[in-house]
Amino acid sequence: GAERTKNVLILMSDTGGGHRASAEAIRDAFQIEFGDEYRIFVKDVWKEYTGWPLNDMENQYKFMVKHVQLWKVAFHSTSPRWIHSFYLAAIAAYYAKEVEAGLMEYKPDIIISVHPLMQHIPLWVLKWQGLHKKVIFVTVITDLNSCHPTWLVIKLGCEISLTFGCIPRNQFQLTDLLLCNIRFHPGVNRCYCPSQAVAKRALEDGLEDSQIRVYGLPIRPSFARAVLSKDDLREELGMDPELPAVLLMGGGEGMGPVKKTAIQLGQTLFDEVHGKPIGQLIIICGRNRGLVSTLESMEWKIPVKVRGFETQMQKWMGACDCIITKAGPGTIAEALIRGLPIILNDYIPGQEKGNVPYVVDNGAGVFTRSSKETARIVAEWFSTKTDELKRMSQNSLKLAQPEAVFDIVKDIHELTCQRGPLANIPYIFTSSFTSLI
Ligand code: UDP
Repeated sequence: GAERTKNVLILMSDTGGGHRASAEAIRDAFQIEFGDEYRIFVKDVWKEYTGWPLNDMENQYKFMVKHVQLWKVAFHSTSPRWIHSFYLAAIAAYYAKEVEAGLMEYKPDIIISVHPLMQHIPLWVLKWQGLHKKVIFVTVITDLNSCHPTWLVIKLGCEISLTFGCIPRNQFQLTDLLLCNIRFHPGVNRCYCPSQAVAKRALEDGLEDSQIRVYGLPIRPSFARAVLSKDDLREELGMDPELPAVLLMGGGEGMGPVKKTAIQLGQTLFDEVHGKPIGQLIIICGRNRGLVSTLESMEWKIPVKVRGFETQMQKWMGACDCIITKAGPGTIAEALIRGLPIILNDYIPGQEKGNVPYVVDNGAGVFTRSSKETARIVAEWFSTKTDELKRMSQNSLKLAQPEAVFDIVKDIHELTCQRGPLANIPYIFTSSFTSLI
């Protein structure tokens, strides 16, 4: 007979690192592959169900990014890390009730976590509810080569909270917690790693081989499936049909040295001797409206397009010949699929640092913080070093994993089938945990 629709809850947070993009990619792939078999909810559970500061993580993240020094302090020095972890764990315990209510509302058969902060607490809640054997729980790691120190932060924080008695001891499986892994929770059914380097760490941290799958970073299906010619795209987007094109961006928020780099490119890509441009520039500023207006008010000697948040990134990338970006995993994975050589000009300390060697060591791009150097490299790629551009483009394509998102949802589907027909999961809202606080 017809099986009932299964609920999939995707837990994410808008804290950069491509979490939202990955969550939406997985949702879309489920719909393409399985239609009505699954009902998907993409939820920023923290934002919707918890109070400050967890619901304000997004703004705090933006604040941190703007004040990179602070971010470095929070994640790279010993004593503030302890303070930070204490703060996180105490709040997490306090708001566990709301997390529980959130899980109860969506009654998920499958939970997919794309954010390191969203596994320990949901897994605990499932355990208190006696549902951990019934609900499939998987994590998708969105760093290409390194893992967010939050994993460590959470663990230490919980331990301190226990020590100080902020959390009732009997409610936590203490041994579980102390043995629990830093970045990789052993209680998951699957851990999807975007690269072999991340898979290796997962193994080192105690996950079993059988829990790990390496398919690549999940990218919107439109990237994998779009097959449009560069000429058609350029016409559609109103670009110059002949001039080589460089795409300049800085993640969803338009961060990093975008303006400085644009100015350098505007000068370097103009051939003074012949009085004509040798390339065109596309600048995508994302949600950074200030950057859009600043760049729009400037005079350019070469063809330049300044855009805000674009929903059709696959088209812009498909129309260009190389890309300059901060080391965001989403943008990198997308650029690889489109075969773009990448100039990385910035990274968010901690979480994006490991993405740099992933690109550079695999010959798919270069790293430089100097905007002068960046402009020089692009000018060479467009004039004397076209062979290098071509070689790097081929290396990009070799690294690309456009099918990753489909491989992930198919694997989750298989896991679901192995469980047999999922019985109606007995979600009961017990305030057992909260009544004990
Ligand atoms: N992006 C987009 N439109 C824009 C700017 C960015 O769709 O105007 C997408 C981009 O294609 C990528 C994501 O936003 O999928 C950015 O993720 P990344 O991991 O590179 O950086 P983050 O912004 O999350 O720090």
